[in-house]
Amino acid sequence: MKLLSVNAGSSTLKFRLYEMPEERVLTKGSFERIGTDDGDYTIRVGDEKIHKTAELHDHNDDSLDEIEAVGHRIVHGGNKYSKSVLINDRVLKEIESISGLAPLHNPAALRGVHAFHEAIPKAQMVACFDTAFHQTIDEATYLYPVPYEWYIKYDVRKYGFHGLSHKFITEKMTSVLTKKPNLIICHIGNGASISAIKEGICIDTSMGFTPNAGIMMGTRSGDIDYSIISYIMKKEERNLEWVDHQLNKSSGLQGIAGMNDLRDIDRAYLANEQKVVLAISMYTSRIVDYIAKYYVKLGGHVDAICFTAGGGENDDIIRQEVVNKLYPLGVTLNEERNKETIVRRGVEGIISGDDSRIPVYVLATDEELMIARDTYHIVG
Ligand code: AMP
Repeated sequence: MKLLSVNAGSSTLKFRLYEMPEERVLTKGSFERIGTDDGDYTIRVGDEKIHKTAELHDHNDDSLDEIEAVGHRIVHGGNKYSKSVLINDRVLKEIESISGLAPLHNPAALRGVHAFHEAIPKAQMVACFDTAFHQTIDEATYLYPVPYEWYIKYDVRKYGFHGLSHKFITEKMTSVLTKKPNLIICHIGNGASISAIKEGICIDTSMGFTPNAGIMMGTRSGDIDYSIISYIMKKEERNLEWVDHQLNKSSGLQGIAGMNDLRDIDRAYLANEQKVVLAISMYTSRIVDYIAKYYVKLGGHVDAICFTAGGGENDDIIRQEVVNKLYPLGVTLNEERNKETIVRRGVEGIISGDDSRIPVYVLATDEELMIARDTYHIVG
């Protein structure tokens, strides 16, 4: 079956065409800067780059009619969805009704759903929510200590994000360890989150009501004392939107080091730039704080600590700093293995020392494949 996996953001759209259940990628591509005059797109078939949408058919010998299903990444499923679902009118209305929780992302994803429905009316559509995997978190964990009626009236609670990635890594480790594992998964990309998995089920995650919560990220602050917001509004004589933007786009690594890409950060770190050394110390400490918290939550029974996403997969410096800080838990690093294990170069695996009390894995995540698997599972 030919199946399309779609990840539509506010101004970008990434897609992959799969042959399922073989999971063979037939075509992949991305559209950038949608809605602007200089929008561009790239489509790849094998190693070949194609610059015209129409050529998709010629090169691949496919027609859109052959696509039987489309899986869409939807950022927010609110309280309603703990799994991916077949899209119908009721589901569309429900996704729309929770758009207030993800005002940039859900409407963009819905536009994607409508566009593909128009282009391929025969294909079945599936919604794959980034929040769904975290819906197993219990009430005492997902509630904030704020007036309870905020939850009842306005759905204020922890939701968690990056669910497709955390689920993908959980399934991968389930097959590696041939058991339902206890895991601490560190998704370290530009956005970053950590999850605690107990017997294959998510019991806690660092992101919250929005993706701004939890650990320090590329440009987001993560957890801070909320009183800073009103204090800075007064001091800077600015409105809430400005402070919100600062916390989202000009904080985290960017706020401390003046740069947010870990590749740049690593170069400056090796050159011993003081602000970058400070930023890395803050960044890795916050990752360690969550690992320690989840270690306790899992009763000290952790089958593996997993690093994934752009930074986790490729950044040996961040991994080294984190693992070195985990020595009180008996976790050790094999420095050589850590340096060699770079997903970009096709190497995944264990980076911990042979004497480590908990093995540390580096694994490639694949959100598009997770969408394809869920979609195939539902329509196939
Ligand atoms: P993601 O959000 O998963 O796409 O990850 C993007 C981030 O991964 C980038 O902003 C970088 O900080 C980081 N990253 C990607 N490639 C590398 C690399 N080769 N070395 C270190 N960090 C990397």
